[in-house]
Amino acid sequence: MAVFSTRAALGGAYFGSAALIIVMNNGAGDDAIERVVGEIERMGSKAHLSRGQFRTVIGAVGEEGVLDQVHLSSLDGVEKVVPIMKPYKLASREFHEDDSVVEIGGGSTPKVRIGGTLAACIAGPCAVENEEMLYKIARHVREGGATVLRGGVFKPRTSPYSFQGHGEPALKWMRACGDELGMPICVEVMDTRQVEMMERYVDCFQIGARNMQNFDLLREVGKTRKGVLLKRGLAATVKDWLLSAEYVLSQGNRNVILCERGIKTFEDSARYTLDITSIPVAKQWSHLPLVVDPSHCAGRRDWVPSVALAGMAAGAHGIIVEVHYCPSEAQCDGPQALLPEVFRELMVQVRQIAAVVKKEFAEIGETAGA
Ligand code: PEP
Ligand code: MN
Repeated sequence: MAVFSTRAALGGAYFGSAALIIVMNNGAGDDAIERVVGEIERMGSKAHLSRGQFRTVIGAVGEEGVLDQVHLSSLDGVEKVVPIMKPYKLASREFHEDDSVVEIGGGSTPKVRIGGTLAACIAGPCAVENEEMLYKIARHVREGGATVLRGGVFKPRTSPYSFQGHGEPALKWMRACGDELGMPICVEVMDTRQVEMMERYVDCFQIGARNMQNFDLLREVGKTRKGVLLKRGLAATVKDWLLSAEYVLSQGNRNVILCERGIKTFEDSARYTLDITSIPVAKQWSHLPLVVDPSHCAGRRDWVPSVALAGMAAGAHGIIVEVHYCPSEAQCDGPQALLPEVFRELMVQVRQIAAVVKKEFAEIGETAGA
């Protein structure tokens, strides 16, 4: 992300962004940390604290030529100052070496933790069609082992004449249903104007593939402290995707979960092509948790289980999957919705694969207060 500064405007020169990691000494106290943060802010930059078990690391993202590496290195308690070379800064492994664990829920539901060795299953209907179907599907997915409930209330449809979702009333059903079953809820937000209203209800915002580069929307959810499930755009590289995550992180919201949901390729037999390779790539470049969406790439329910298992085997921290007990009646994405019994069987296999790659799925209840 390049910034066109006042200086650049005056002098005609172009300054890019710069990022530094300030690694504090093992025993550095709060005073030393506060001093470093103060100096970073004095330089017109934002400081992002990452407190580890033994040491604190401070990320500073600001303007090239203004962030003073030498000065920061000289401050008390600073062990070293290292520039982050990647274009995405806070999303990079350089900023945060260990896997991040993102927590969603924890208010009126148990907390669900995703990342590191902790995997989670997010499941539910594509769209919330009515209250009764929502509760029915939610009970099914909960029994099958999902810990987070998904359900769209604003739907990004290719045609403006297709079902667009029920909006706020459906959000109220989602909230009540999640609370009753003890499941945090994940709901797609499509527009900056929806963020304030939705923030009152959701535990996790979903950013749809088509909105991955809606930068204003990313900034807006970045100002909240809710989870943000960031789907990869249909034609986005892994780098683009991480730069989008950076928009959210740069606003101070650390709770980003990446979601690989398939990209456009020349292959047209399935709806999209799940980029399996992006899983190890994104995990190497970034500390953020990553889940796989087998439903939207497959587009057909009989192909969904294989893709889900492949995603887990490749190292995903879980899946987000669409389920419906009567797909022929679904108003959106019926052909790819798994029947509840198939979902249940799939989760048995998903857990087996997860065990092989050293990940564990918590049960509902286990996550409470964790
Ligand atoms: C969805 O999750 O229902 C959806 C529309 O997903 P995507 O943005 O990946 O197409
Ligand atoms: Mn869908």
